[in-house]
Amino acid sequence: MSSPSNILRIAVPTPLYRIFDYLPHSTQNMDTLEPGVRVRVPFGRTKSIGVLVELAETSDIEHGRLKPILECLDEHPALPQDILELVSWASNYYHYPIGEAINTALPAALRKGLPDKSKPVISWCLTPEGKSADQKDLKRAPRQAAVHICLQQYPEGAKSEQLQQLPGDWRGGLQALIKRGWVVKQETNMTPQTAESQAQPHLQLNSYQQEAVDNISAALGSFQAFLLHGVTGSGKTEVYLQVIDAVLGAGQQVLVLVPEIGLTPQLVQRFQQRFQIPITVFHSGLSDSERLEAWLAARNGSASIILGTRSAIFTPLKNPGLIIVDEEHDVSLKQQDGFRYSARDLAVMRGRFLQVPVVLGSATPSLESMHNAAESRYQLLGLPDRAGDACHASIELLDMRAQPMDEGLSHKLLQRMQQHLDQGSQVLLFLNRRGYAPVLMCHECGWTAGCDRCDTHMTLHKQRNRLCCHHCGADRVIEKTCPNCTNEELKPIGQGTQRTEQALQQHFPDITISRIDRDSTRRKGSMESMLEDALSGKSQILIGTQLLAKGHHFPNVTMVGILDTDQGLFSADFRGTERMVQLALQVAGRAGRAEKPGQVLIQTHHPDHPLLGMLSGQDYSHISDGLLQERKQACLPPFSNLALLRAEAADYSMPHQFLQHAKEMAAHLDIQYIEFMGPVPAPMERRAGRYRAQLLLQSENRPALHRLLKQWTPSLEKIKSARKVRWSLDVDPLDMF
Ligand code: ADP
Ligand code: ZN
Ligand code: ZN
Repeated sequence: MSSPSNILRIAVPTPLYRIFDYLPHSTQNMDTLEPGVRVRVPFGRTKSIGVLVELAETSDIEHGRLKPILECLDEHPALPQDILELVSWASNYYHYPIGEAINTALPAALRKGLPDKSKPVISWCLTPEGKSADQKDLKRAPRQAAVHICLQQYPEGAKSEQLQQLPGDWRGGLQALIKRGWVVKQETNMTPQTAESQAQPHLQLNSYQQEAVDNISAALGSFQAFLLHGVTGSGKTEVYLQVIDAVLGAGQQVLVLVPEIGLTPQLVQRFQQRFQIPITVFHSGLSDSERLEAWLAARNGSASIILGTRSAIFTPLKNPGLIIVDEEHDVSLKQQDGFRYSARDLAVMRGRFLQVPVVLGSATPSLESMHNAAESRYQLLGLPDRAGDACHASIELLDMRAQPMDEGLSHKLLQRMQQHLDQGSQVLLFLNRRGYAPVLMCHECGWTAGCDRCDTHMTLHKQRNRLCCHHCGADRVIEKTCPNCTNEELKPIGQGTQRTEQALQQHFPDITISRIDRDSTRRKGSMESMLEDALSGKSQILIGTQLLAKGHHFPNVTMVGILDTDQGLFSADFRGTERMVQLALQVAGRAGRAEKPGQVLIQTHHPDHPLLGMLSGQDYSHISDGLLQERKQACLPPFSNLALLRAEAADYSMPHQFLQHAKEMAAHLDIQYIEFMGPVPAPMERRAGRYRAQLLLQSENRPALHRLLKQWTPSLEKIKSARKVRWSLDVDPLDMF
């Protein structure tokens, strides 16, 4: 007979790379102890809430030294088995402590130990006595009378939202009516959603869309990753909608990941219009309890369509049928701090675990995904044409060399803008730099205003009359005189969106201009109202940063100007060119919808650059082939695998010391096939007052790299200087800064 499994292996949220063994408490009902339940445990000198990962028969720790748990918080697992598996896999792959990884997957309310169940919906309704009562009896009790009248309108029961509409103290009136026996309080659970017939009919698909829908539909019930590649407006969303309909028809759920909900209101709206069921949306505006409700609805199967940003990848699903990742190339799908997972890559892994298809969609897929498609790991579904009657925008390069310029706007560009405006069309200008000017310089001695805490310039924000650091958030009033030579002539150098807006206003004094960037949309609702002005045609010129490049469709925009592409051509990051091309094509996709042919003009001082030449051909597959060739020659991802160890400290030498030590430790392990680069200072060495350095590991052999990381990463915490630095490991880093 086997010995009983009564060692509880528990993941506790702590930066340590292990799980912890505990004993059941003395009156423990062992039947409810399934992996996935939350338990309160003594941890060091405090108490902590952990998650039971497995039951074991033996422990490496002597039995007498094991402590019992304090209590088990759940009767049933809060985290279903498949989420536990996904998180364990991710913790392993990203070499991130399991306890913290699991914590990331739990909604905040559950992390804090709140009950794992829906809050009942509370409402009040009239008793039979209350219904037949005579209003006259309440003549002297106006508060009660008001509540009584209100409840008569809600035979199913009124909630506090409805009663709140009443003037005065409705709670007092309500209590008095309950005392009379005229009203009872009732608690009901959230009504489950059922997939009813669709609200809006499907569109007639073109043959490419049909082929995509057929292929994905045929894969339902099994795992297959698809790369849906189609220019903006080619009808990808329509493909999603029709496949989703099939999944809902089979009684299953769909998980849709998007980069930023705030930037995709139109997508959410289209989902909402197409299906009669409510869409469960995870967005940053939810309170802890709203988030928990949405999470529970997904887990119990009552939510059918779940839409969220990257962290939604850990949403439990009762009947999973399909996972969609829209804009799969977007960097925001990768978490940039703490648990640095890629939601896109985890989506593919989750699809494999769950045996459901995964659709990655983009007009400009990541090179990683293009490569996976080329290697047949993903099935490529192409939508080469714009759907409906809309036609492709044309892309044209504007040679800026020796051209007259006005605040970054060439005369050629201004002329073309005038033509489009004269025709009553809208113009969109893209400049990925907010503020007035990126640099403030002394004309006399060349001094520039730098950030005291970062190795970077302060950006001039003229309206607020301040200098701001876009890296650490520091700001200060603008110097009146040069601190170096006391000269009074300080000049803004370069263009930000504010400066361009100002210049445009002078050029086109009668035209309404909307500037859309993080500064102009900070106030709640301002983004929405600006988008409204853009869509209604009230504002004729739109100038913005990448906020404008995503998600929104402006049917009346016939010209897009890209003001500054050149910096992307010479970026220090090896992904710089890929990003530049993606951004340019994404922006280009905003124009020329709705049957109006669009024109994209790119200002450049390097019109002969091969990449720009390819860009005007607009064949993304062709461009990505070229970029992949370069990556291959340089042995960069996706042809090799990277892991970046970062360290930072207030002390200048500490990060280097730590990384050097880490590298020496690795030398004792199996480092065959692995190349170490560094330690070197980070591209921006000082940020927010801390010095930063990094050590890059590169290998063509992924298993070898991960074998090393598995041994090496947990031992890093033992390095003496580890306590004096903040360090982190980034597997498959997207950003080398
Ligand atoms: P994407 O997601 O690739 O940008 P959408 O699905 O949003 O493309 O489609 C772009 C536009 O074309 C939308 O207005 C959509 O309603 C329309 N559309 C999509 N598919 C079709 C179709 N088969 N026939 C007619 N119009 C379509
Ligand atoms: Zn000076
Ligand atoms: Zn700074």
